[in-house]
Amino acid sequence: LTEKLQNIFKNLRSKGRLTEDDVKEALKEIKRALLAADVNFKVVKDFVKSVQERAVGQDVMNGLNPGQMVIKIVNEELVKLMGSQTTEIKLQPGSAITVIMMAGLQGAGKTTTTAKLAGKFKLKGKKPLLAACDVYRPAAIKQLQVNGEKQGVEVFSMGENHKPANIAKAALEHAQKNGNNIVILDTAGRLHIDEDMMEELQEIKNTVTVHQTILVIDAMTGQDAVNVAKEFHEKAGIDGVIVTKLDGDTRGGAALSVKAVTGKPILYVGMGEKLSDLEQFYPDRMASRILGMGDVLTLIEKAEAEIDEEKAKQMAQKMKKNQFDFEDYLESMSQMKNMGGIGSIMSMMPGLGGMGGMGRMKGIDEEQTAQAEKSMARMEAMIYSMTPEERRNPDLLNPSRKHRIARGAGVDISEVNRMVKQFAEMKKLMKMVGKGGRKGKLRLPF
Ligand code: GDP
Ligand code: MG
Repeated sequence: LTEKLQNIFKNLRSKGRLTEDDVKEALKEIKRALLAADVNFKVVKDFVKSVQERAVGQDVMNGLNPGQMVIKIVNEELVKLMGSQTTEIKLQPGSAITVIMMAGLQGAGKTTTTAKLAGKFKLKGKKPLLAACDVYRPAAIKQLQVNGEKQGVEVFSMGENHKPANIAKAALEHAQKNGNNIVILDTAGRLHIDEDMMEELQEIKNTVTVHQTILVIDAMTGQDAVNVAKEFHEKAGIDGVIVTKLDGDTRGGAALSVKAVTGKPILYVGMGEKLSDLEQFYPDRMASRILGMGDVLTLIEKAEAEIDEEKAKQMAQKMKKNQFDFEDYLESMSQMKNMGGIGSIMSMMPGLGGMGGMGRMKGIDEEQTAQAEKSMARMEAMIYSMTPEERRNPDLLNPSRKHRIARGAGVDISEVNRMVKQFAEMKKLMKMVGKGGRKGKLRLPF
């Protein structure tokens, strides 16, 4: 974080809504930060514009100043732009062979990444075959063979005297006989985009069915990445991107540019020359790296945590005093949604989801989770059909009011009755738990 940026924050008011000036001021610095991270200037321009529209008029969160609030919004938008979750390479169902074609400029990291991917697939119990389709450099074939051997994966090659498309075809036939279920085509790049290269890729596609075309981009190429991605996408049609050399000190703005321009997901990132240095792509980590404002983001996280804690304390207090009402109930449901919904909460619980939520839980399957989420949505609909007074004072709910609520939520009156009864029981339970001396901990009532 530059000193200048800090000064700007100090000079801004510390509460209220974001004004156009607040946003403009903060975005100026953010623009600079993105450009310094090698995000393409056109992408920066569009991005900043859309953030500006979204940010003006928003409430400034307690504990943050307007500048920090803008950064919070920018960070969220960056994550959204890069896809909110990780994406896997799509494989053909069953035992069908998936053909993956690697594309990209020379030196981007295609051959290395081909071998890295093969290792990942092997770990998943697949049997990949690597095909040496770069016939321009004898060293390229050798390089693939050496890397393939290191990974314990077979490499198919026909020397340099065949057309890449024919090599691809022969490799596929070999895979069919040999029981391979993934074929990765390592193609030749050029120093610059040229027609030859694009035609070659197209010819491969015309000769064999390519299921996934993966563009390999060197993070160090900075702003050029966007032109490269655009051309490849238009001429060869890509399905996903791998960004290499993120182990260097580049902030990786290329990742943002490429995603913004092609709309295709980033699948993996290359984090070194070793064949194990290929990592899943995490949009949130990438966003904070590109933004380069880690200290502000940490501060924002703290502010968020404090607010949640404060709310949780208030609610626990209310539960103890038996003042918990439908408004609080809505609030606790929205908190739960912020945490990723029932499914993700359950998968984070040790013993259910396993360590760190990695494993799949036993006993509670997706269907049950979906059902719980559905019934939560119905409850929400009923509560939203109440008047504010009814939410604060459920004792008001006489039969005619209940009928109105049922109509409003599109449910049967019996369901409203059941919910009100359950709520009363839950309150009793909470009172007991509250007396049991739990401090500050919010028990989510669901
Ligand atoms: P290709 O021409 O696209 O096939 O590129 P190569 O796979 O031959 O890679 C070019 C150079 O980049 C080699 O020296 C690789 O070791 C190196 N390389 C590839 N991926 C990475 C990476 O993620 N990090 C680093 N530091 N180097 C990489
Ligand atoms: Mg190569």
